Amino acid sequence: MTDPRDDLPRPQTITAAYGVASDPAFGAVAPPLYLSSTYEFAGFDEPRIYDYGRAGNPTRELLADALAKLERGAGGVITSSGMAALDLLVSRLRPDDLILAPHDCYGGTMRLLKARAERGHCSVRFVDQSSGPAFAAALEDQPSLVLVETPSNPLMRVVDIAALAAQARAASAAVAVDNTFLSPAIQRPIELGADYVVHSTTKYLNGHSDVIGGAVVAADPAQVEELRHWANVVGSAGAPFDSWLTLRGLRTLFPRMEQQQINAMRVAQFLDSHPAVAKVHYPGLSSHPGHAIAARQQRGFGAMLSFELLGGVDAVRQFIGAVRFFTLAESLGGVESLVAHPATMTHADMGEEARAAAGIRDSLLRLSVGLEAEQDLIAGLEEGLAACRS
Ligand code: PLP
Repeated sequence: MTDPRDDLPRPQTITAAYGVASDPAFGAVAPPLYLSSTYEFAGFDEPRIYDYGRAGNPTRELLADALAKLERGAGGVITSSGMAALDLLVSRLRPDDLILAPHDCYGGTMRLLKARAERGHCSVRFVDQSSGPAFAAALEDQPSLVLVETPSNPLMRVVDIAALAAQARAASAAVAVDNTFLSPAIQRPIELGADYVVHSTTKYLNGHSDVIGGAVVAADPAQVEELRHWANVVGSAGAPFDSWLTLRGLRTLFPRMEQQQINAMRVAQFLDSHPAVAKVHYPGLSSHPGHAIAARQQRGFGAMLSFELLGGVDAVRQFIGAVRFFTLAESLGGVESLVAHPATMTHADMGEEARAAAGIRDSLLRLSVGLEAEQDLIAGLEEGLAACRS
């Protein structure tokens, strides 16, 4: 039997052209932006396709369809942020549902899951998913949802999605993969057995650091309907203008990712050979423990990496004061390079104990490598590292 999805254009064509020249009113090449919050009924008891903007919007749906096609899912829902996308999945659960989440997930994800669990909306257990025995033992608690982040934020740990999804399926648990760090240009979790893919579209999908947004894509059409319904119930849908901007950013996803990951590899190699650096976490390096899995399940190694400085927090302060071309800021995935200090920024709310358990040290810095010239990026890092030694 042929899979109907085999007929899809190639992903590069979807990003560049999905929805192009589809305007029935004026033949606009760029898809129009529909801002209206409400829609005229055709007559008494005759709603059209759209009736109210919380329930549906043509601009938002264009983005949802493009992402669903890219992720090889049945459909998707666009939310107001990445956290709202995760919460769309989590807030549907019931008090006796257990979520199995990675012990080193994004700090905001951990904060959300703990907050939901503390209020009795569900329960949560954090586990090292890169350890087979620990994960197998945790499955005995019969979770209803396994949340995966690979590569993880900020330590770039890689999880074998296909193996984990098979184990979870055998235990009747659904699997959701946060694909924010790679995007469907590099990794497609549904093809590896996941039930859901979650995105902070704020990052690579939009790619220009000017929109906060999120998305959930589901493999099963019934789950898509259920998610759409729930997004309308709780009112978490993304704004039309944000969707329009994100679709515009998506057009260049492939060339951005391609060049950014070339730059990231050069940066990782440079840092790996530098005497002021204790350790580099980048799955593209053959020394990375997840290198073989990443090479198998990804189409490249992405543009995120982290590294530890030999000189501890003092060195971090000196580095941040001297580095050039990497802006000290939260977030990632834009065309400009950023540096973050997870312990005081993205993962501060996790608390010292959880950070220590996850291996996030105070000497760790995270880089989002952008589209600048590789020589400038390396020269900028060299200046930061030179300051650490003086
Ligand atoms: N998931 C990951 C892996 C992230 O890094 C982030 C934000 O940094 C989020 C989810 C949350 O996304 P947002 O900031 O769009 O709410």
